Amino acid sequence: MTTYTPMMQQYLSIKSEYEDAFLFYRLGDFYEMFFDDAVKASQILEITLTGRDAGLKERIPMCGVPFHSAKGYIETLVSKGYKVAVCEQTESPKEAKGVVRREVVQLITPGTIMEGKTIDGKTNHFIACAEQLANNTFALAYLDVSTGEANTALVEGGTKALLQQLMAFTIRELVVTEQLQLLLAEQASNLGIVLSIEQEEMPEEKASQYIKSLPIELKGVAKSLLQYVERTQMRSLSHIQEFTYTETKQLLRIDTNSKRNLELLESIRGGDQKGTLLWLLDETVTAMGGRKLKQYLHQPLATRSAIENRLSIVTDLLDEFFVRNELKELLKNVYDLERLAGRVAFGNVGGRDLAQLRESLRQVPSIKQQLLDSGKETLARLGEKLDECADIEAFLSQAITDNPPISIKEGDVIREGYNERLDELRFASRNGKDWIAQLEQKERELTGIKNLKIGYNRVFGYYIEITKSNIASADLSRYERKQTLANAERYITEELKEKEAIILNAEEQSLALEYDLFVELRDQLKAFIPRVQALASEISELDVYISFAHVSEKYRFVKPAFHEGRALKIVGGRHPVVEKMLNKQMYVPNDCVLPDDKNMMLITGPNMSGKSTYMRQVALIVVLAQMGCYVPADEAVLPITDQIFTRIGAADDLVAGQSTFMVEMLESQNAITNATEKSLLLFDEIGRGTSTYDGMALAQSMMEYIHDKIGANTLFSTHYHELTALEEQLSRLQNVHVSATEKDGKVVFLHKVREGAADKSYGVHVAQLAEMPDAIIDRARVLLEQFESKEHGVANVAATVVNDVVAEAELQLSLFAEEEKATAVAAAVLSDVEQDVLQRIEKINIMGTAPIQA
Ligand code: ADP
Repeated sequence: MTTYTPMMQQYLSIKSEYEDAFLFYRLGDFYEMFFDDAVKASQILEITLTGRDAGLKERIPMCGVPFHSAKGYIETLVSKGYKVAVCEQTESPKEAKGVVRREVVQLITPGTIMEGKTIDGKTNHFIACAEQLANNTFALAYLDVSTGEANTALVEGGTKALLQQLMAFTIRELVVTEQLQLLLAEQASNLGIVLSIEQEEMPEEKASQYIKSLPIELKGVAKSLLQYVERTQMRSLSHIQEFTYTETKQLLRIDTNSKRNLELLESIRGGDQKGTLLWLLDETVTAMGGRKLKQYLHQPLATRSAIENRLSIVTDLLDEFFVRNELKELLKNVYDLERLAGRVAFGNVGGRDLAQLRESLRQVPSIKQQLLDSGKETLARLGEKLDECADIEAFLSQAITDNPPISIKEGDVIREGYNERLDELRFASRNGKDWIAQLEQKERELTGIKNLKIGYNRVFGYYIEITKSNIASADLSRYERKQTLANAERYITEELKEKEAIILNAEEQSLALEYDLFVELRDQLKAFIPRVQALASEISELDVYISFAHVSEKYRFVKPAFHEGRALKIVGGRHPVVEKMLNKQMYVPNDCVLPDDKNMMLITGPNMSGKSTYMRQVALIVVLAQMGCYVPADEAVLPITDQIFTRIGAADDLVAGQSTFMVEMLESQNAITNATEKSLLLFDEIGRGTSTYDGMALAQSMMEYIHDKIGANTLFSTHYHELTALEEQLSRLQNVHVSATEKDGKVVFLHKVREGAADKSYGVHVAQLAEMPDAIIDRARVLLEQFESKEHGVANVAATVVNDVVAEAELQLSLFAEEEKATAVAAAVLSDVEQDVLQRIEKINIMGTAPIQA
């Protein structure tokens, strides 16, 4: 080490504390990186790798980025999962003896980055911390550094459930102990989650204000997380809110897989939100409201009073059309109060941010008035709760100009009259400028040169400029020549020099004072943060309620009613997303009646008839209702459901590459072990992934178990017709079927759910619909007849596998067929999900795909 230059020694000693981060080492106008950091960063950021003398024989690798454009580079690195330690010069080079002192002022990590393209207004950006409590249970704390929102949860179901929870909240960084890191390293890295280590907890006395209301087993993770955030951000955490914990029994619990299966927040296909319930519901107009809506969707309620409270607000908003519209207009002018509060706390709030805060606060009195005057009790109560924050608004109005610039160093941020000294300096500087204008006039008269002008530049200060053609004719004896241009000369006078000193001095002082005043004001504002956050929370809820009312009206939803029992009754229910996607086509509404003594339903019917749409619509209606929104039906009388479990389609398993059937069994196991009689279970195409007898046997035994041991409201769909016979054995089971009819030998889907089991397998007709060659259709009909003429049981089994027979025969044929035909065949024999995968593979641009993506 001693052979390095002193600066390099400083670098290496700082770097040794930030081994896992890129160290951005400030050198003048650049952040430089050295050694491996430089080699790696030059590749990732595509910047030139150079070298630098460091006291050794050989030059060391170096690369750098200009400090004014560093943000973008930092964002790139962090979005790829790296950390960046920003190391600044913390003393002025003029004062330094020897090497300038440098310190890391912030560690920017994937979970704590506050700005940039990756931060979407309507999405929380959480960082989390986890701790293993028992084998299967994890304590989880997560907070959004930009908004200060802080929550906790107990996660049951081992590392898999933990990671799924992280994925559901799109958490990119998880803080853990060293021990837990070993356990999670591989899975986390597969999922692109960065693990960061924190060995210490924030001391109790310091942390207590944040963790007051947490149960003891959750305090530890919260303290570790606070410690990590403070250690890396190295600044005020005054905007971090108290950690919340909601007892799980107060919430409708939906596991991550089921959320995906039901397409609540993300579609099964991935990608954008189109086709999700969120997509349908989100009519919020503020970023905070958007985040709140997602939170409601993640955690619908399970206490009747809380749900009915939300519903009655929505009812009142629906009644008061004008109030609702007026409120919506007002909300459009409310900026992201939570993130603004975060910036105040962090000390990176600018003049424009404060103008946005002020503009937002100016809406509050009208919002409050609208609510109070609405004539509705629930709305008036919301209005009473609203803190107008008039004092904060007045403070900002007095202090901040109408249109401050983004930068706080250019002046024009602090309003006149706020500070006497500032006014004086501004007056002096402005006065001086007036004086200059008068001087220009005077000099024009004295010299008789009409285009004489006084200008300013940084190098020479103020000057008098005269074009060359005018020089000869004028008396310039009072002037001193300063600069010669191609067609003009620039001069100064004694008088001008003196005034210049006064003006520049005043201006410089005024900018400096303005900056100081701003910083002071920013600190004063910190005291208001909790009130602004409380306001933000109420405004965001209001935004969600208005969105609910709007959506309910637009799509003709009705208010659901709740009761204490288990029975569920939906009349004329619809799947709101499918309905919207169908566009002009008619959606066929369906009832779902599950009386207490017949609360299991077995749904049969051909592929594509609408079985899974029907099951999902029941679940979505339950979710919507427990969020406090109206529901797509003519009537809905519902129990309070505690959990929803689904086994739908082939969910691709991100966490571990298990086989489809294994996933099905794991999901079923999860449902069966955790469901109660207050749960809702959806089993679509149960037992499909294995051989017929195997699958059928499992399906039947699961149905018996749920019937005898659990008693949950349950919907099964199946293509095993044999299972319909169970109606006689299981007293609480009812058969329904989704009807289809034949017209001219072809199947026509009616999408209507009717009592009783489906009487016929439409597999062959579906194959025909898919334009399977006639030879195969005819042959399948013959085979079907043969199977049906045999012994009853076998015939049924055979009928159900007729699709497979067709498929196999066709696959052989397709070897010789043209490509289009092969595609048509594939369409007929592949499941929806498989078709989807196939289509996606076909669309891949192989030439433009990196190996890692492949
Ligand atoms: P299944 O599960 O029986 O194979 P799906 O539920 O996937 O069938 O439905 C297939 C398609 O039929 C859906 O994508 C949708 O377009 C349409 N569909 C389903 N239910 C209805 C309905 N009630 N009204 C109108 N169209 C429907």
